[in-house]
Amino acid sequence: MNRKIAFVGLGNMGGPMAANLVKAGYAVTGFDPSPAACEQAVEKGVVLAGSAAEAAAGAEAVITMLPTGDHVLDVYLGRRGGAPLLEAVPTGALLIDCSTIAVQDARTAAGHAVEAGHRAIDAPVSGGVVGAAAGTLTFMVGADEADIDEARTILEPMAGRVVHCGGVGAGQAAKICNNMILGISMIAVSEAFVLGERLGLTHEALFDVASTASGQCWALTTNCPVPGPVPASPANRDYAPGFASPLMAKDLALAMKAADATLTDVRVGRLATDLYRDFAVGSGRTRDFSAIIEQVRQEPFEPTQEVTR
Ligand code: NAD
Repeated sequence: MNRKIAFVGLGNMGGPMAANLVKAGYAVTGFDPSPAACEQAVEKGVVLAGSAAEAAAGAEAVITMLPTGDHVLDVYLGRRGGAPLLEAVPTGALLIDCSTIAVQDARTAAGHAVEAGHRAIDAPVSGGVVGAAAGTLTFMVGADEADIDEARTILEPMAGRVVHCGGVGAGQAAKICNNMILGISMIAVSEAFVLGERLGLTHEALFDVASTASGQCWALTTNCPVPGPVPASPANRDYAPGFASPLMAKDLALAMKAADATLTDVRVGRLATDLYRDFAVGSGRTRDFSAIIEQVRQEPFEPTQEVTR
């Protein structure tokens, strides 16, 4: 008999991830309140359940791929009605939360799971919907040593890489620290291109120099915010995501929450968070996060300091 895995949250990421588990031979039982998400999952061989708790009954592992920490806690504890997943899953099951949520929420959720007699790890991902479909996601795992081998086996059909970052919460910590670097560096690259434009520099010239010099970074060489130098970057298709700006705004907000909790000075990160928060509810709402360059280009020039000549 195939090993049973429950999959809760069959959206843009969860749907294709669950499909890869089916392909690998697991019996995947899923739940999502969205009929559209369910329809696509069924087409890929996922068996639907009527609730998260129902999906979890008899499963050796449960994967959650949900929008926020509140969603994860709601499902684990049955806070919005329905049976708590933690009461329905067999004792000792491995709960793997792949959602991007606050470090503290991850630790709280894992604490509830352990209290209920289970094992829990956080395993947020990078690689986006393309990586989810291709089974090449990078998993950043926060787990006890004792659980990591089993987690690797389950994650493998969905993964390009599985990185054990430390104990519970360490996966989420790695994810938000990485994405804070990414958010800041995308703004830096965008400002540099706009400044270059105004200095008469072509995009190609700046790219040729910076991509092989000390300005080199992923935001420049893989997700370049101007069309041309990197043909596969979203800038070449009118900034269709890719990695949508609201998700970047969300991850930066989580990083700021963690910075506040740890009294960490992240002034540049905070500025990037403010810029992405505004962009994500405005013209960036449905666009890749690299479209922030258009906002940089449009900002009115209001020097705050006297220009030195
Ligand atoms: P999504 O909105 O497409 O999917 C989330 C799904 O959860 C939806 O289908 C929704 O109906 C479902 N859901 C909501 N409440 C539920 C409940 N109580 N029980 C079961 N299902 C429920 O979002 P997504 O893009 O798949 O992202 C999921 C997570 O992955 C988020 O935390 C996101 O930050 C993270 N993430 C997304 C990407 C990306 O590129 N989309 C990349 C890395 C990480």
